[in-house]
Amino acid sequence: MTIYTGPVFEMARTQFATIADHLEIPADERARLLYPKRAIAVSVPVHMDDGRTEVFQGYRVQHHLTLGPTKGGTRFSRTLDIGEVAALAIWMSWKCALAGLPYGGAKGGVACDPPALSRRELEAVSRRYMQEMIPFVGPETDVMAPDMGTNEQVMAWFMDTYSMHHGHAVNEIVTGKPVSLGGTEGRREATGRGVAYLVSRACDTIGMESQRSTAVVQGFGNVGSVSAYTLARRHGVKITGVSDHTAALYDPAGLPLDAIERHMAERGALAGFSNQMGIDAAELLVQPCDILVPAAVERVIDAGNAGRLRCRILAEGANGPTTPDADAVLDARGDEVFVIPDILCNSGGVIVSYFEWVQDLQRLFWTEGEVNDRLERLLEGAFMQVTRCAAADRVSMRTAASAIGVERVRAGKRLRGLFP
Ligand code: NAD
Repeated sequence: MTIYTGPVFEMARTQFATIADHLEIPADERARLLYPKRAIAVSVPVHMDDGRTEVFQGYRVQHHLTLGPTKGGTRFSRTLDIGEVAALAIWMSWKCALAGLPYGGAKGGVACDPPALSRRELEAVSRRYMQEMIPFVGPETDVMAPDMGTNEQVMAWFMDTYSMHHGHAVNEIVTGKPVSLGGTEGRREATGRGVAYLVSRACDTIGMESQRSTAVVQGFGNVGSVSAYTLARRHGVKITGVSDHTAALYDPAGLPLDAIERHMAERGALAGFSNQMGIDAAELLVQPCDILVPAAVERVIDAGNAGRLRCRILAEGANGPTTPDADAVLDARGDEVFVIPDILCNSGGVIVSYFEWVQDLQRLFWTEGEVNDRLERLLEGAFMQVTRCAAADRVSMRTAASAIGVERVRAGKRLRGLFP
């Protein structure tokens, strides 16, 4: 019996079973590793602009506190449920352990539709959610960050709400906040920069020149847009396709990124940029390209399209974009597609969040150059470990990455023992 249900949780559970079999983890250790330590569900009542009171459902799941506080993003999305939040918390645990960060995984959010809220309503949702979470979070317990539907401004409201309660500024309660409030240089770009760095390392590994390659990016928010800009401007990759929830654009000759950047700054979405370059969103994923970066939502690569992907590198900017059924198809395709699994590919975000927390605790701030150097060093270490483990154990990159993360959490639990 479990309260965690739904397709995203089933994905996390199925993936874990594969890793547990691979690591030969005894049956009685599995539940302790998989199921979250704690889950909090709250009501978030808000006065809406039209005079109604609406009650939103909020969640926070803390997967394990074995290696340090929990760490994870906050998602505002219409369809959010506790199974999805728990899956994302579990993936955060393996991700933090793989990167060597002293954290367990967490995730949280509110089931709401941010574009449908006014700024005042969004602020009210954010503040009331954090207010409800105050007994359960803290710089040594659980540190929040942005995720889909939240941003630096939401983190600033979280920090203010928590700080007002404590009577002094507690910058280290959230990461991904504005630099002027103790955020770190380079956090906003960290996830996309990390994606681009790992893509360049994957290009080296398979002997593909990034300057001659093309990329399609699904999702054009924080992760997708920074991935696209960095791949193009730093690594010379031609971006041939991009999409968001409003439009999908494709041009094999290369998209005009500068003009798209200006359009996004004005309109906040891709819709209205071009009719000629429009393409069906699902078809975009199966266009020929060297690098495919899903950077939007879960489960977009499934058994139905995995066999039709025409990329050489699949760089998972999003969490959980590939279902276990799709993994089986990709595994059967052998070396055709080099997968950079999500817990490695998008780990730049939590790595720089960790740097932000460390800087806040020490009240000592680093330059963007220092942040980026340290980021690349940690990503390089994780990439090398995963590629070596995949080759040595003859397993997929996803199995290798998850196995390293799971084994580190397991070792921590074994050393600490079972209380009491
Ligand atoms: P965001 O809210 O900034 O952007 C999400 C983007 O996805 C938007 O452009 C939206 O229009 C688009 N989108 C939504 N549904 C879509 C669909 N069905 N098809 C195409 N596009 C769609 O969110 P983000 O922070 O960029 O997060 C994206 C993904 O990356 C999520 O899976 C998130 O968990 C993961 N992630 C984010 C970070 C981070 O630092 N922000 C770190 C690690 C992982």
